[in-house]
Amino acid sequence: LVSRKRQSKDTVVMVGDVPVGGEQNVLVAGPCSVESEEQVRQVAQTMSKLGFRLIRGGAYKPRTSPYDFQGLGEEGLKILRRVADEFGLKVVSEIVHPADIKMATQYVDVIQIGARNMQNFELLKVAGSARIPVLLKRGLSATLEEFLFAAEYIVSRGNTQVILCERGIRTFEKWTRNTLDISAVPILKQESHLPVLVDISHSTGRRDILLPIAKAALAAGANGIMVETHPEPSVALSDAQQQIDLKQLEALLTQL
Ligand code: PEP
Ligand code: MN
Repeated sequence: LVSRKRQSKDTVVMVGDVPVGGEQNVLVAGPCSVESEEQVRQVAQTMSKLGFRLIRGGAYKPRTSPYDFQGLGEEGLKILRRVADEFGLKVVSEIVHPADIKMATQYVDVIQIGARNMQNFELLKVAGSARIPVLLKRGLSATLEEFLFAAEYIVSRGNTQVILCERGIRTFEKWTRNTLDISAVPILKQESHLPVLVDISHSTGRRDILLPIAKAALAAGANGIMVETHPEPSVALSDAQQQIDLKQLEALLTQL
């Protein structure tokens, strides 16, 4: 179902009134984690001023260490909804448990399935029965075929609104957090009709190369970019090294 052979026309996923996969590139920005209402409000205020429409923020954080900040859970989703409504933004947020999908659809506009859960088939099935868009991230060591089969799990359950997101894969390279697989972009566009985004923050893990990476992603045919931003990255509760501050977000947008 996700194959180009089945559908030659690009799928445009509508997130409310925001098209993902159409003529216009889309920029998804927001903090790694929802930390407080004030933090989300600062980000949302700048984003709406700059013309962004989609805000991201994690309420359920899949952290490597169990001792690290795990997210605010449902309270985090409520914060996102309240603030997004205040500024006319749409919410993208990761859900990690199948049982939380239904609850989450009250608050979010797009369910994100993270890299670590790309092959959590029970989660994919429940996301497939939801009727809101799903942003599916590529697994840390997933082949493109596995990635598209994961998308197929969702679409085959009746939810055709799937956005693919390349977020880097694990290689031997240590100077980036992950290795952005730029060839994934044209290959996914060729093999599938689904929209493709590139997460420039998790793929690189560093803020000093975001502009060239974003340019490369768009040049390769991505339908948009995801980037992490925080009012004060140095004190962020997660991914402090890779988030950009709000001035840097504005500069990135302008230069892009
Ligand atoms: C995220 O986008 O918040 C995230 C955890 O990314 P990934 O699943 O790609 O690691
Ligand atoms: Mn993050």
